[in-house]
Amino acid sequence: MSKRDQEITRREFLKLSSCSLALLPVALIATDRSVAQTKAKKEAVQYQDTPKNGQKCVDCVLFEPPEGCKVVEGKISPEGWCSLFAPKPS
Ligand code: SF4
Repeated sequence: MSKRDQEITRREFLKLSSCSLALLPVALIATDRSVAQTKAKKEAVQYQDTPKNGQKCVDCVLFEPPEGCKVVEGKISPEGWCSLFAPKPS
């Protein structure tokens, strides 16, 4: 492997490493249900009890009525929001 190839590989690795660690619980849940499942802490995903820019939990595919979320721990308000918001298809 040439030095240039090694540089590209290193760059790609750093790019992948910069992905949000907040998404790790999502990846674990999505890929292997036998792995101990951990939900993200509210603080880690900037959860708030109010909508943001019109986005709210009740419109997110990860929301679990009446007050839960597949990937964020604790009681979740239908009117809340976090950085993992994923809109339901319209
Ligand atoms: S916006 Fe965040 S907290 Fe709300 S349902 Fe979606 S992933 Fe869960």
